[in-house]
Amino acid sequence: MNDTGDSTAIDWIEIVPGFTCNCRCRVCPSTSQPPGWMEPAEVERLLELARARGAGGVWFGGGEPTLYPHLAQLLARARLMGFTRLRLQSNGLRLAYPAFSRALQVAGLTEVSFALMGASAASHDHLTRRPGSFQLLQQGLANCRQLGLKLEADVLVTERSLPELARLIERFHSRGIDGFTFWWTSLHGLPATEEQVALMPSFSRGIDYLVDAFRKAEQLGVLVASLHTPPCLLPERYRAYYRPASSYRLLVATPGGTPFPAEDSPMEGGVRTAACRSCSQVDHCLGARRDYLERFGEEEFSSI
Ligand code: SF4
Repeated sequence: MNDTGDSTAIDWIEIVPGFTCNCRCRVCPSTSQPPGWMEPAEVERLLELARARGAGGVWFGGGEPTLYPHLAQLLARARLMGFTRLRLQSNGLRLAYPAFSRALQVAGLTEVSFALMGASAASHDHLTRRPGSFQLLQQGLANCRQLGLKLEADVLVTERSLPELARLIERFHSRGIDGFTFWWTSLHGLPATEEQVALMPSFSRGIDYLVDAFRKAEQLGVLVASLHTPPCLLPERYRAYYRPASSYRLLVATPGGTPFPAEDSPMEGGVRTAACRSCSQVDHCLGARRDYLERFGEEEFSSI
């Protein structure tokens, strides 16, 4: 790992110890990454770097971080270093085993964000290409709820999940999830097969469904945020639901790479359209993703 020498204060570090996963989600770039894991010493060095820059939170992402053989040991180490929020971004499969989820909680885990692909087994398992994954995720969620962990969800917005978003919030809020973050499908890092391209909706097609989900969240009193829908794509009343990755003050570290701020990832936007030039939101908004513009053009974007 190279360090950037940057000393900007951060709140979080995301450590991706490897890209190995026990699902093969249809629009996940991790599936084409090389196997292998970070050495524990490297993770420790990243944790130290993050503490030195003021981070109080660490989240382990992936791939699937519950497959990382040193996870419990490093959660315990992070807690000793003074991290107060220790989080997993997980497909929840291994958390279905009570002894495993308990061991992580004992090591210091405070919260889990579950990756949701749909509101039903049919749509979730179709996306993960792992029959039974929805059922295991729900068992994992129940175990974590029993352990008193904070529970959130990262919801992948695809053509398939769009019509289910409001129902998904209702269903999973009733199972203990109190915060939902929407991730609009991206083709970045994918071969962009016909199937993958068909799974990425346009904003024009998807925004009404997203607004239904925002309304449902308001009704239920749960937190919801949308990472990749710039304010100009949302009706004025719902613009505050846009959450740029920069607001997390998050450093991301992947195997063999130099840690980078989350907002520098092409997955988070970074391209300015003609409309952005005269837009009042330009300092707050991360703009558009290149892969989105290549697929749909920039006609939907308009300055505020
Ligand atoms: S900065 Fe660009 S993408 Fe963002 S809201 Fe304004 S016009 Fe839309």
